[in-house]
Amino acid sequence: MKKLITKEVQFCDGCGAEAYCEKCLGCEKEHCWQCRKPLGVEYSHSVGFSGSGDGYYCASCDINPKIEATPLHRAYIAISLLRRESKRFYEDWLRRCDEAEATLKAIPARD
Ligand SMILES: [Zn+2]
Ligand SMILES: [Zn+2]
Repeated sequence: MKKLITKEVQFCDGCGAEAYCEKCLGCEKEHCWQCRKPLGVEYSHSVGFSGSGDGYYCASCDINPKIEATPLHRAYIAISLLRRESKRFYEDWLRRCDEAEATLKAIPARD
């Protein structure tokens, strides 16, 4: 059986490839997974997790957000800053763990 159908296909606004794309929450430009990193910013929906519910902004909307997108964008930025803070804290904590363990190892063995 043959049928003539109309099919909607998504193309990346960055590289032009046919691919699943994420839509910018500011201007609705669509980018494939390969273009998302160089052409935009992916914001996590939570401080502790990332994945479903994350928000994507193309680079120009991330730098010059439209006024109506600002509260959502600000919420994502706040989470993003907290994530960075937690990463820094964790790295510092790991460094201090290493120091403490090295100090213990440096003490001569007792008998
Ligand atoms: Zn692309
Ligand atoms: Zn955009």
